[in-house]
Amino acid sequence: MTRARLGCIADDFTGATDLANNLVRAGMRVVQAMGVPQAPLDTDADAVVVALKSRTIPAQDAIAESLQALAWLQAQGVEQIYFKYCSTFDSTAQGNIGPVTDALMAALGTDFTIATPAFPDNHRTVFKGYLFVGDELLNESGMKNHPLTPMTDANLVRVLQAQTPSRVGLIDHRVVAQGDAAIRARIDALKAEGVRMAVVDAVSNADLMRLGPALKGMPLVTAGSGVAIGLPGNFDVVPGEDAARLPAPQGLQAIVSGSCSVATNQQVMDFIQSGKPALAIDPLRVAAGKDVTAEALAWADTHLAQGPVLVYSTAEPSAVRAVQAKLGSAQAGAMLEDTIAAIARGLVQRGVRQLIVAGGETSGACVQALGITQMRIGAQIDPGVPWCHAVAPDAPEGMHVTLKSGNFGSRDFFTKAFAHGAT
Ligand code: ADP
Repeated sequence: MTRARLGCIADDFTGATDLANNLVRAGMRVVQAMGVPQAPLDTDADAVVVALKSRTIPAQDAIAESLQALAWLQAQGVEQIYFKYCSTFDSTAQGNIGPVTDALMAALGTDFTIATPAFPDNHRTVFKGYLFVGDELLNESGMKNHPLTPMTDANLVRVLQAQTPSRVGLIDHRVVAQGDAAIRARIDALKAEGVRMAVVDAVSNADLMRLGPALKGMPLVTAGSGVAIGLPGNFDVVPGEDAARLPAPQGLQAIVSGSCSVATNQQVMDFIQSGKPALAIDPLRVAAGKDVTAEALAWADTHLAQGPVLVYSTAEPSAVRAVQAKLGSAQAGAMLEDTIAAIARGLVQRGVRQLIVAGGETSGACVQALGITQMRIGAQIDPGVPWCHAVAPDAPEGMHVTLKSGNFGSRDFFTKAFAHGAT
């Protein structure tokens, strides 16, 4: 069996898949584990990603889970650790990016790491430490309205500095443009100044490919998924199609969506406008104790045989705010995650074997409810979103699943994904 050489810890499930996707595209065979596995890895892989659901939990809990993941990865013999967070640097006022990074640095006995969420393929770029989402600064993008992690400052040096006692610096685009030797020199200079974490500018894949070699041998890398495109070369891996091969898709098709991000709202709209069956979940009926899960599954029973169905709680910001004002944001979020997850499980029990889940937190809840502990990562549908293959108690022969982070995917993603899977 090939020993995994790169060990990754992701702070949410869709983010883990996004990272795995970039590693697969760069030629690594990747297995993603849901939570910290109880047993050693029993399959061939060049990289393994441990997916946590630690983005919005209390910082102390996020630290504890991340350290458990680290210990398991070290026991598998990995040579480098990659702490993956969102390409929009999603964090709460308490962290958890800073606190988890500090804890991993201490456990690894290292005094320097980088931090960059840049992912140019998905229009996330970092310039002079400021994060852009498409043409907008982070704090002017839809992220300012995120239900759990509203982002109100685009200056990542400032955002990260507020989360850590470690000194935070910047490796700016002029240095990155000069290549890995210049980046290494800048790292040495920053270290000499007492800087322990450096935000790195990157506005193009070329920047990330220049950054990659400079990270060779760095015990800990922290980043969004973009930095991963420049790392496999450090492990003598070259791009090839074999890394993405999955069994052929089969069974019924469904989408569940608990994401309220701008892109998901458009994708839900597109699916409805294309005339396909879609059912909206009313959060207030769930809160009132109605058996919305049973209703949704009864509805699905009448449509599933004809093609893909969509069940969603996705809503525009004003509707989300109204629900949150009545129920509280955390309570509404958890309640809807549980409901969507129960519906996903019911759909799989009805023969769905190609399932799209939209929403990071929602994906975590669904994967847990389905009892999926490990997935092999296949080919990319859209940047950051691959099909995956997993065995579940209700699908012992295996099923295809894709976990779509809120703001990822083209407008016609839900339709395109099934067409892609069928080819
Ligand atoms: P994204 O990837 O878009 O951030 P997530 O699933 O991570 O999506 O987060 C969306 C959160 O919003 C979840 O906790 C979800 O349960 C919650 N949510 C979903 N629909 C609604 C709604 N209609 N009103 C309030 N909260 C909602």
